[in-house]
Amino acid sequence: MLRRIRSLSTLISSAKPSLLNQVTYGLHFLEAFSTEALKPAEAGILSKARTPTVNFVLGGPGVGKGTQCTRIAETYGFTHLSVGDLLRKEISSSSEYGEMILETITKGKIVSSEVTVKLLKRTIESSETDRFLIDGFPRSEENRVAYERIIGIEPEVVLFFDCDEEEMLKRVLHRNQGRVDDNINTTMERLKVFEAYTLPVIRYYTGKGKLHKINAIGTEDEIFERVRPIFST
Ligand code: UDP
Ligand code: MG
Repeated sequence: MLRRIRSLSTLISSAKPSLLNQVTYGLHFLEAFSTEALKPAEAGILSKARTPTVNFVLGGPGVGKGTQCTRIAETYGFTHLSVGDLLRKEISSSSEYGEMILETITKGKIVSSEVTVKLLKRTIESSETDRFLIDGFPRSEENRVAYERIIGIEPEVVLFFDCDEEEMLKRVLHRNQGRVDDNINTTMERLKVFEAYTLPVIRYYTGKGKLHKINAIGTEDEIFERVRPIFST
């Protein structure tokens, strides 16, 4: 099995772009490999003095997750971890996965759970804080399962910022952050990916009674007022 993992790993790092697309999108056997590659025993999270508190923040592209997370983090003392930002940092730090991540983000697909969860784990472990708002993750059921296997800290709260697609598209196209994925074609794909892959995660946490759905139409202040009661208790 180990050899198989290694050879698949080599395949990922040396794959041609078309294969990379498959690797990063919907190839369930590779997702399964991804979660197996890191055994729970390797997860060093529990070696932190205290088990961290984790909350997830979900919602479609441009819905305002980042903006609201900044405010929640400042007001209620969380460390804001945008997984999209962690991935973009990987691209600019010329990591071994940089090229694959750039290509995946440019196409609006989801980066392999192996890479994302590893990054997240490393970031949580090296942080001196122990209260995290994880923004934009898990984006798929595979992401969620990999997270559970490798990090395994049950989220206390899952926020879902909800807004119609037309408004999300408008916000993305007007935010001018120079992102490679803030164009109409990629955003249309991200909306499709959100519906097909992230909505099942939202349904999962609804079933667990952890989901808090927030109407994300309104001013930043109005939306933040809707979030407050969740963390003020
Ligand atoms: N992304 C990913 N996995 C994650 C988070 C982000 O693959 O867990 C990639 C994905 O390609 C996504 C892009 O990063 O479309 C941008 O994500 P981000 O959360 O920054 O975008 P937002 O939803 O905030 O516009
Ligand atoms: Mg964001």
